[in-house]
Amino acid sequence: MRIPLVAGNWKMNGTRAEARRWAQAAAGALAAAGAGVEVAVFPPYPWLTDVAAALAAAGGGVRLGAQACAPQAAGALTGAVSAAMLKEAGCHYCLCGHSERRTLLGEDDARVAAAVAQALGADLVPVLCVGETLAEREAGRTARVVAAQLAAALDALLAGPPTWVLAYEPVWAIGTGLAATPAQAAEVHAGLRAEVAARDPAVAGAIRILYGGSVKPDNIGGFLRQEDVDGALVGGASLDPAAFAALVQAGARRDGASS
Ligand code: PEP
Repeated sequence: MRIPLVAGNWKMNGTRAEARRWAQAAAGALAAAGAGVEVAVFPPYPWLTDVAAALAAAGGGVRLGAQACAPQAAGALTGAVSAAMLKEAGCHYCLCGHSERRTLLGEDDARVAAAVAQALGADLVPVLCVGETLAEREAGRTARVVAAQLAAALDALLAGPPTWVLAYEPVWAIGTGLAATPAQAAEVHAGLRAEVAARDPAVAGAIRILYGGSVKPDNIGGFLRQEDVDGALVGGASLDPAAFAALVQAGARRDGASS
């Protein structure tokens, strides 16, 4: 039985005070939703320790994640942040290969796989993000693209415990308001799980695969009702405490109802 995970990626948003407030709101949402859902938030680096403290003060339960980690352990890498630093800052999860980093910051598959290995080496749980562009979807290449992104990191992922997470995030759906259909997500998620099952069926049954891309309270239900969708990675809507609470409640019920 895979517990749904509802994760909020705050990206480069929010003041320190807002981050604390959003953390308290996330903790409140989890407390109201009960035990049937896991909640995680991914603040900007400078607010990680503040958010860790706010979450602890609110009773714990909500997991902290980093939006990325360096593919190296340490060294002369100005501006980079290591997985070990993120662990010490209180992180449990680390996003690896978010499409904004792949496309805007040039992170390629080899770099993403190295970041996954670093995350696991520091006892962080990687959340590997994969997804196709609109041109790739229109060319009928979706399955091949996401399988290749997964394959590049799969050896590294399988070296760790089967707690890691996949996030299918079509690039064309992120921040556009144009979510994939539940059927599109279901097809890709099933394909991803089959790719993992070809290497290790037990791991494939254990890992969670999140859908991400314009998830809102009014569309999350369609995704959660799909067998291979185990939660959501949420950007924009995670910045609205009421919307995020509704998403957490939907995750707890796996039915998408928002109240
Ligand atoms: C994301 O960036 O991970 C994301 C899913 O963003 P949004 O929900 O805003 O589309």
